[in-house]
Amino acid sequence: MQPASLNFRENAARALEDTQLQRALLNVKTGFMVKRAQARAALPEFDELRNAAAAIKDHVLAHLDLYLEEYERRVFEAGGHVHWARDAAEARAIVVGLCREAGAKSVTKGKSMVSEEIALNAALEDAGIEPVETDLGEYIIQLRHETPSHIVAPALHLTRDQIESDFRAAHTSLPPDRDLTQIPELVAEARTMLRQKFLSADVGITGANFLIAETGSSVIVTNEGNGDLTQLLPRTHIVIASIEKAVPTLEDASTLIRLLARSATGQEITTYTTFSTGPRREGDPDGPDAYHVVLVDNGRSEMLGGPFRDMLRCIRCGACINHCPVYAAIGGHAYASVYPGPMGSVLTPQLIGIHECAHLPNASTFCGRCQSVCPVNIPLPKLMRHWREVDFRAKPATSLPKLALRAWAFAAKHPRLYRLLAGIGTRLLSMLAGRRRRFRYLPFASAWTQARDLAAPAPRSFQALWQRQQRELERERLRHARRF
Ligand code: SF4
Repeated sequence: MQPASLNFRENAARALEDTQLQRALLNVKTGFMVKRAQARAALPEFDELRNAAAAIKDHVLAHLDLYLEEYERRVFEAGGHVHWARDAAEARAIVVGLCREAGAKSVTKGKSMVSEEIALNAALEDAGIEPVETDLGEYIIQLRHETPSHIVAPALHLTRDQIESDFRAAHTSLPPDRDLTQIPELVAEARTMLRQKFLSADVGITGANFLIAETGSSVIVTNEGNGDLTQLLPRTHIVIASIEKAVPTLEDASTLIRLLARSATGQEITTYTTFSTGPRREGDPDGPDAYHVVLVDNGRSEMLGGPFRDMLRCIRCGACINHCPVYAAIGGHAYASVYPGPMGSVLTPQLIGIHECAHLPNASTFCGRCQSVCPVNIPLPKLMRHWREVDFRAKPATSLPKLALRAWAFAAKHPRLYRLLAGIGTRLLSMLAGRRRRFRYLPFASAWTQARDLAAPAPRSFQALWQRQQRELERERLRHARRF
């Protein structure tokens, strides 16, 4: 399901009625959550690692300029080039320019969320260059002209049957009797189609999980090996990464890698962890002739100096998404952002402006699970609350929520008035509810009552009951005192 609009309510309502999607979403609970819990239990030092990881990221963020400059120096020493992009438009222009310089007609791509963030594929296509996604999930959603619904598993919203019919529609040479009912067969089919693309690509574009300042290396973690083929076979390799991916040393990267796979997929380590440093050197058996890194800011510098700085610790493991009850109910496309779930609800307003997506930080139960599983301990509920405040403050003084809260604050500062109004309100509602003691419909609460009944309040408030009890106790005490 691909949302038609930024209207979260509409998207969410559609997602809840989408039976295929609901079936696909069961994988979040049975797969990611269980596996992460097992991986965490098997690593006694998980919490210490988590503290160490958060400290590494905090240290980098405090000295980001120095580490990025160091990284640039090392890339240059290794024979590569670093390009700086202030925003998405600059990043797109740089990558398209590099592809044109390389005379590229076709480009293979490893999974890269920042390339999704800047809508790179559309820019390449506009320039007459064919982008080919090589990660299986990305390949599937490219066939469907969709965006990812999850940062680790882009096609998580699809069932096997849907993928089979997509392959049959797109791979026209596929024999109709070929069995595609199982995952290994689907993978083999995608591999067959991609092999030729790997061999003919002029440029390979990968993301980076980490950029190591001391060596000028970029690191990608994958399970399919597509990243290696993407960066080794074409003549030019372009790494595209956001600036907060820098880490000081190889050892720091190792600490983060130990947490990344466990938090993402429950693996101890992903099948491939690939380090790339510059172009092919003399004597290297393979590798690209040219090596470029495009460092994308796109709002990160602004975050660095503001209240959302902690979000830059994110290592894109997806654990917060996997454990979010809202995501589990509606999937990723309802968020209408490249970054869904709790991490997206903090990051997206920074990228496109809170006024465009004020619904996102409100799409949370604030159960706190997201922070509890985050391997770098990002206070996601606090950051979402902060976005709510920003949005609330920007509303006009005459907006309904502001007027309602002002009225409530006035009453709350005048306890007698508050008690009087609360007493009238509860009695009235209790009377209207009748003997059923439930409402099937209630004006101002229709968003609740359209899906479920609303229980009627008790005829008397807790305070009224408590006061009556106190009065009875006092009378009893006086009677007792008179007797003696
Ligand atoms: S916010 Fe934390 S849990 Fe969520 S993707 Fe980022 S690192 Fe993972």
